[in-house]
Amino acid sequence: MARYTGPSCRLCRREGQKLFLKGDRCYSSKCSFNSRSFAPGQHGKARKKISEYGLQLREKQKARRYYGVNETQFAKYFEMADKAAGMTGENLLRILESRLDNVVYKMGLAHSRKEARQLLLHGHFTVNGKKVTIPSYLVKAGTVVALAESSRDSAKFKAIIEAGFTRPAAKWLDFNAEKCAATVLNLPSREEVDFPFEEHLIVELYSK
Ligand code: SF4
Repeated sequence: MARYTGPSCRLCRREGQKLFLKGDRCYSSKCSFNSRSFAPGQHGKARKKISEYGLQLREKQKARRYYGVNETQFAKYFEMADKAAGMTGENLLRILESRLDNVVYKMGLAHSRKEARQLLLHGHFTVNGKKVTIPSYLVKAGTVVALAESSRDSAKFKAIIEAGFTRPAAKWLDFNAEKCAATVLNLPSREEVDFPFEEHLIVELYSK
């Protein structure tokens, strides 16, 4: 399935929630959700009664859009989560969090997951010392993700480093600011995932 390339803000309006897809702009007064929090389209302002299935579907779409994952890949992640030991919903969030583009974003080296994805595709990062250009690469505890040495002097990263990074590194990462490298201490627990998903709705949707 093709990747969505339309306006990111439209996705937040569709989900009725800020999904923080555009970096700094999302935290500023320029965020279009502040002035237009209704769904896009001609009937966007109309109040609609939403079914149980509708709620489950929206929750899945929200998670998918938040992490920038396509439908097929998301279904694959659900299958992996379902097969693993423990709570399926929590497993699913842990898999989504362990994507390499998410880790780069959580290291504070990109303004958004979308930007992290671009930077990865351009070969700016290494995993355990080897260049990796796959945003969907899944890290494990002990994996070391680092900014490639050849990229440290680029204007882009110089600006990010001089600004003190785009965000504080996630607690489940041991981040070395000098080396711009992070070791994954453990994959995050539910409490460490900072997005208000109701993952049980996603589990219910796929369990039909
Ligand atoms: Fe969503 Fe606002 Fe960010 Fe646009 S600027 S992506 S509406 S949070």
